[in-house]
Amino acid sequence: FLADKSAKVFVAGHRGLVGSAIVEKLKQHGFTNLILRSHAELDLTRQSDVEAFFASEKPEYVIVAAAKVGGIHANNTYPADFIGINLQIQTNIIDSAYRNGSKKLLFLGSSCIYPKFAPQPIPEDALLTGTLEPTNEWYAIAKIAGIKMCQAYRIQYKWDAISGMPTNLYGPNDNFHPENSHVLPALMRRFHEAKVKGVKEVVVWGTGSPLREFLHVDDLADAVVFMMEKYSGLEHLNVGSGKEVTIKELAELMKEVVGFEGDLVWDTSKPDGTPRKLMDSSKLAGLGWTPKISLKDGLVDTYKWYSENVNQ
Ligand code: GDP
Repeated sequence: FLADKSAKVFVAGHRGLVGSAIVEKLKQHGFTNLILRSHAELDLTRQSDVEAFFASEKPEYVIVAAAKVGGIHANNTYPADFIGINLQIQTNIIDSAYRNGSKKLLFLGSSCIYPKFAPQPIPEDALLTGTLEPTNEWYAIAKIAGIKMCQAYRIQYKWDAISGMPTNLYGPNDNFHPENSHVLPALMRRFHEAKVKGVKEVVVWGTGSPLREFLHVDDLADAVVFMMEKYSGLEHLNVGSGKEVTIKELAELMKEVVGFEGDLVWDTSKPDGTPRKLMDSSKLAGLGWTPKISLKDGLVDTYKWYSENVNQ
């Protein structure tokens, strides 16, 4: 992959948190022929449009970072979107990439594919061993179908499709929607607005006790390039930081980074979701990849971006 910097690389979802970081990373590596389409230019849910796009562009490498994503509240509120849109996007891209001669495809999912009560840290082979967390099962089922589709195309067609499952990601270009985003951007925004408006209390959802692992999206982008270069296996690979914090610890750290000086109020009427979600990323580590950005440094970096872009 890294040997030919003029190869055509299609990054699906290049405006999002993940896709934008991957594009930056590919540019840093010197790739000159990135193929990018905004949602307005190409609606990935429309099969015939995706087929026509692949038939004319014939990308050599494909990275699937396009997805309908959201936090616990959004998943609960829009189940049809989370399963339907994701199945459409990924099925269209994977099948068209194969049929139009792409050499390799990397599909990205998320740690919520694993059963609610999976062993912790969660190894790759915990997949499909138990019941999913109900608050995100629609999204999870779509992502599991994507992994299986890559495996099936690898088996039946000897085609190089791989999957990476990142832990909770954060960074510039995240979705900072007050209700529908994930915890980290939601808290960053809420603390920031409280600081600016001089509000003394900020509401945080749940009990604060759930444990989560966070990975800066630049680390994920680095892992994506690493996997495109080094990995061609049937099994999906976990991509995590290996470090977990409670939501309470995250909230305290966020408070410090944003510089909010008031109090935290816990709204226990909101769901906690899965009690713990730490991935076992030792397979990827065994291949030689390690994350580099600490949570503190990552929050500082993300808050800098947020402060500069909040008005847009
Ligand atoms: P999850 O990792 O799939 O459960 O997704 P989230 O990032 O949405 O939630 C993670 C945890 O953070 C849950 O326990 C939430 O209840 C908690 N949390 C605390 N405050 C917030 C908030 O403002 N927004 C979200 N989305 N979650 C919050």
